[in-house]
Amino acid sequence: MRSGLAHSVGIFVPIKHRDMRLIDFMREFPDEQSCERKLKEYREAQGIVCPHCGCKEYYWKGDKKSFECKGCHYRQSLKANTVMHGSQLPLRYWFIAMHLLTSTKKSFSAAELQRQLGHKNYMPIWAMLHKLRNAMGKRDAEYKVCGMVELDEGFFSSEIPDSEKDKPLKRGHGSQKKTKVLVLAETAEGTPTKKSDKPTRVKHIKMIVIDDLKSEAIDGKVKMYVNPDSTITSDDSKSYTNFKTLVKEHIHQVIEPDQVGQILPWVHIAISNAKRLFLDVYHDICPGYIQNYLSEFCWKFNRRTMGDAMFDRLVVAGLGYKNTFRYNI
Ligand SMILES: [Zn+2]
Repeated sequence: MRSGLAHSVGIFVPIKHRDMRLIDFMREFPDEQSCERKLKEYREAQGIVCPHCGCKEYYWKGDKKSFECKGCHYRQSLKANTVMHGSQLPLRYWFIAMHLLTSTKKSFSAAELQRQLGHKNYMPIWAMLHKLRNAMGKRDAEYKVCGMVELDEGFFSSEIPDSEKDKPLKRGHGSQKKTKVLVLAETAEGTPTKKSDKPTRVKHIKMIVIDDLKSEAIDGKVKMYVNPDSTITSDDSKSYTNFKTLVKEHIHQVIEPDQVGQILPWVHIAISNAKRLFLDVYHDICPGYIQNYLSEFCWKFNRRTMGDAMFDRLVVAGLGYKNTFRYNI
């Protein structure tokens, strides 16, 4: 029932706006200079702030490709204080990655992008994609879901962490091969009833890696990501007993496996589509990085009707956060 529903509904609704095609992208960004010009435009539109003295007035130093503060003369490069901070890769690589991340229905692996770019090293390309996914996650973390919210947990296959490799393999949901993920889906209408097997329309989704399934861990995420005016629908788990103090209403009931597609349709469509995508595109996701893949999945889903405006949104998101992604997190 669960997978049947997921397959028949499909996660991507028809695109309302035109997608940016590869041919348009190549025309707009034929070389490094065109990307630099565009990045300068984006940064100026956002406002240049001196990280040293907070001054908002600057000179553009074309020969140094830097903004110089009018107050203290501190210079910052085009990439400084953005997701590209400290990156040695050409700007065009970043633009190509952002174009592909926002124009492809599914996704692609770092190995594939490395091959397409003809770049000799894998790690910088891999890190670039993770930095962008990380920025997507930070952007979506600024929004809370509200109104009618479905909530459940998903268990994603991942590599066994190094710290657990010598320990006996646990079975089921506690297995070291499974990463626990809290999944939230904000729906447009009320909870679907048994009269209709058509799920309500979904607006936004969130997928958040959690260390354990205890109520303290889950309550913290609900406080952070669900508007208190919301109504949460979930199963009868003991971990959810505090929800009534966190949101306006908590509808909970024992859910048999064959009912889950009716009572919590969107969280399960989202989980099943994300799992299928991860299986298709990536292999052996390391638990430390799974949040970034989930963030990409949710970010794209939440902007699925934006068409070519998604590219701009990703550039803007990337400029809004100084890179904090580190290897081996
Ligand atoms: Zn300054």
